[in-house]
Amino acid sequence: MTDDSHEVFAVCYASHSRKRSENYIFGDPHDELTSISYYVWVIKGPHGVFVVDTGFDEVAAKERGRKLLHPVGEGLKALGIEPDSVENVIATHMHWDHAGNYDLFPKARYHLQDTEMAYATGRCMCHPMLRIPFSERDVHAIVSKVFAYRCEFHDGAEELASGISVHKIGGHSKGLQCVRVKTKRGTVVLTSDCIHLYSHIDEGSVFPITYSVGDTLEGYKTIQKLASSRQHIVPGHDPEVLKLYPAAGPGLENWIVRLDVAPKT
Ligand SMILES: [Zn+2]
Ligand SMILES: [Zn+2]
Repeated sequence: MTDDSHEVFAVCYASHSRKRSENYIFGDPHDELTSISYYVWVIKGPHGVFVVDTGFDEVAAKERGRKLLHPVGEGLKALGIEPDSVENVIATHMHWDHAGNYDLFPKARYHLQDTEMAYATGRCMCHPMLRIPFSERDVHAIVSKVFAYRCEFHDGAEELASGISVHKIGGHSKGLQCVRVKTKRGTVVLTSDCIHLYSHIDEGSVFPITYSVGDTLEGYKTIQKLASSRQHIVPGHDPEVLKLYPAAGPGLENWIVRLDVAPKT
């Protein structure tokens, strides 16, 4: 297998209905009910399996009023992956909807940015407004992993394996990173929350939970350079992703899609 032979999947596990205006700083003139989707992502290739983010569980879903559709572990099993055999997890950032399920991968090493750990455990968490998207349980769990020698820290851009790299973007969360993967169709960027919805990058708008608006907007430019084209940019919460890409197999429609094949145009 060569570097560009990675298979990449988006595994949807939850959804949430909300007013469209809740998705943009300065609101949206078309204020109707819309939904956002929650995903984890999977990279399979010559270097094994990399799971990108760990999602949230039923307890957290109830606490925050979200609808869990398929537990994250079920999605991975549908792809033939046993969570307890996963060796690498990339934590794009520590927000509750990306960093829960912290016991699901007992053997994994967690890859995260220095800045995100400092942000999630430092003075900014003394501000209720900045703390909202973090769960104390998730942050304790990642600190425990540091002491168990299960965290690998990155600072900026770093290659984790040939054809898989992380890139610090910041903006939405101070140490947020995206993931760049080589595939047969070109270089795909899993943006996680660097770009929530296609409309954010297309219109230059910004999701309201944001540490730095300037870094978020600069991040859009960086991601456009990192990806082969706009069609290689995969936003972190857009329900359209499930419609644009083919199901990863029979029975997986509206649940798990292949991102290493071209989307519908
Ligand atoms: Zn986030
Ligand atoms: Zn998110």
